[in-house]
Amino acid sequence: MRVVLLGPPGAGKGTQAQIIAGRLGVPAISTGDIFRANVSGETELGLQAKSYMDAGDLVPDEITVAMVKGRLAEPDAKGGFLLDGFPRTIAQAEQLRASLTDLGHALDCVLELVVDEEELVRRLSGRRMLVEGQMVQREDDKPETVKKRLAVYHDQTEPLIEWYKGKALLHRFDGTRTPDEVHDRIRATLATKRLEDEL
Ligand code: AMP
Repeated sequence: MRVVLLGPPGAGKGTQAQIIAGRLGVPAISTGDIFRANVSGETELGLQAKSYMDAGDLVPDEITVAMVKGRLAEPDAKGGFLLDGFPRTIAQAEQLRASLTDLGHALDCVLELVVDEEELVRRLSGRRMLVEGQMVQREDDKPETVKKRLAVYHDQTEPLIEWYKGKALLHRFDGTRTPDEVHDRIRATLATKRLEDEL
């Protein structure tokens, strides 16, 4: 299956991505994680991406699309994938569609996690991650950057909801439910999707 997880920062995409990808037996590909690994590793890509990430902006499409194309060409993604955090602009979605079409593939579905802004701010300000044995706050989870990231989501990523709706790919889920509840609903949708594909 080829699946995209869509939703604002803090909606729970990362948590769902891990569970769903595990069940589907496909890799969970998080562009944010790949960028962060490159920033930590001080690679050329990391150096290019860092200033955008720190400011809460999107990394330019050319850089991001090239990175994702490279990742999707790896053997483990041949049979399917779950994309977490990509696409985030219409241009990225168009490029993804073109790349998949070239390979004779298409997306099976787009899963959107819906969470109101107040709850997102609450979640992001309390979020910590484990780095070298310590719980630390992500630089871009600081209050000012969170505001910026939510504005960027609203302006640049939200238009994808209508775009994918128009292609009859979009399924929406209430992301304020517990992770298990969200997952149960997603699983039911994916099961229906699989049945449809087999019929
Ligand atoms: P995330 O972990 O998904 O919240 O991503 C963290 C940061 O990485 C974002 O705020 C962007 O700066 C960058 N990033 C991740 N995915 C993308 C993407 N698809 N397009 C552009 N920038 C991205």
